[in-house]
Amino acid sequence: MLRGIGASQGFGIGRAVIIEDVNLDYSAVKYSGADGEKARLANAVEAFTDETRQMVEELKKSAGAKEAEILEGHLTMLQDPFMLSQMNDNIDAGSVAEAAVDTVCTMFYDMFAGVDDEMMRQRASDVKDIRDSVIRILLDAKSVDIGAVEKGSVLIAKDFTPSMTSQIKKENVAAIVTEVGGVTSHSAILARAMGIPAALSVINSTGIINDGDLLIVDGFSGKIFTDPTDSQIAEYTEKQKAYLREKESLNIYFNKPSVTKSGAVKKVYGNIGKAEDAQNVVQNGGEGIGLFRTEFLFMDRDHEPTEEEQFEAYSTVAKTMDDKEVIIRTLDIGGDKDIPYLAIEKEENPFLGHRAIRYCLDNRPLFKKQLRALLRAAVFGDIKIMLPLVTTVDEVKSAKEIIEECAKELEGEGKLFKRVPVGVMIETPSAALISDLLAREVDFFSIGTNDLTGYTMAVDRGNAKVSHLYDAFQPSVLRAIEMTVKNAKAAGIMVGMCGEAAADPRLIPKLVEWGLDEFSVTPSSILQTRKNICECE
Ligand code: PEP
Ligand code: MG
Repeated sequence: MLRGIGASQGFGIGRAVIIEDVNLDYSAVKYSGADGEKARLANAVEAFTDETRQMVEELKKSAGAKEAEILEGHLTMLQDPFMLSQMNDNIDAGSVAEAAVDTVCTMFYDMFAGVDDEMMRQRASDVKDIRDSVIRILLDAKSVDIGAVEKGSVLIAKDFTPSMTSQIKKENVAAIVTEVGGVTSHSAILARAMGIPAALSVINSTGIINDGDLLIVDGFSGKIFTDPTDSQIAEYTEKQKAYLREKESLNIYFNKPSVTKSGAVKKVYGNIGKAEDAQNVVQNGGEGIGLFRTEFLFMDRDHEPTEEEQFEAYSTVAKTMDDKEVIIRTLDIGGDKDIPYLAIEKEENPFLGHRAIRYCLDNRPLFKKQLRALLRAAVFGDIKIMLPLVTTVDEVKSAKEIIEECAKELEGEGKLFKRVPVGVMIETPSAALISDLLAREVDFFSIGTNDLTGYTMAVDRGNAKVSHLYDAFQPSVLRAIEMTVKNAKAAGIMVGMCGEAAADPRLIPKLVEWGLDEFSVTPSSILQTRKNICECE
């Protein structure tokens, strides 16, 4: 089995077609004089323009107008008089047309690739795509005819440029596999737009997989089963059918607003644990992020993430969400979430111990590093800070003071940052009972029913003997939720829910009735939750 990044959902079963890179070696091309080379270049640019225009039209049909914009961007770039005049200058200096294109595009590539910004890096891959296409036209080199592959093909390439992707006929391609790229790369965006399952960044896949190999590609997990058994094929064929059935029935909710029958407007957000998961929320029609569990940034490693590392993660999410709301929860450790290098003391009763906001307030340098990263990342989108496991008003006041201290520091250092709204999780009975007091201190609430249920019912959710008591539908938990929503409404602040109960169809009508504003759920539950909300009175 091979592993990559699941970048476009679905399961694809089919035969591998390896897309080799075209040979673009132009060392044997002879200089035909400045006029001759300029004419060759002009012809190639014209052919490139025609070819690209045609692809734009095809892409509009197969993936949509928005996706075709990437290729339209190529046309604009190559028509840039500065770029073309630089190429002609190179020809005047004795370069063949291929070398002129190579030199100028590489110069732009280096310029874009060096910038620490995802958008700029995408521009770099655009320039590389333009360079390869124009040189291929100049050399009259033939690339694999991606548009002619047989039905049920799994396309394997180092990377898919937009011009390659645009040739794909989605009815013939079962899945896409690349050696590079992540969930925000062009290949991923286009694969999703075409509904083709994709696993990206599968190291050395073009070397390991052979033409004609039978493969199963899991576009959720990024797993690739090479040489699958009959039972695996049967299992994944069934999974794909079930996935398509479900997707079909929920698809109508993708671009629909989350509005009840009587017209109350709600928001359906997604919960994430890693920056990359934000894309998953977008893919599933989420209107924002209601909970980013930042403790995952601190886990699976042997040292604390730096302010820069955290800034990168938070700003990536903000940029991915494109100005949609992003609620980021500060470090929620302790209880069942241990982080060995933080050397949290062993406690008799960790769930009632030195955890979450309590730990952060007592470990200021660690807390401040995270808050500084959050305030800096807020420049890139609509970030809000959320405090976990709050039980007293004083905790909120202290945290707000520290946030302000961080803002002042950043101001003094001349760093870019933004002051942001601050909210709390209501996940302890104490927080629910004083939600009227907390509402005066914060900008929003988010009800964490996972913990609220456990603490209210005095139940350990991991203990099978008492698991029947672990239920958010118990009257005491419902009262805590209702009280919280009503106190938020009375104070005029936004109230959401990010515990699992936000997706519970039994609970949604009640939450709607009480006036909950936002439902934050696992990305794969977003459309179902929206459907349930739309069906409420
Ligand atoms: C909750 O307690 O409901 C919650 C969302 O937080 P977590 O599941 O991360 O404890
Ligand atoms: Mg919790």
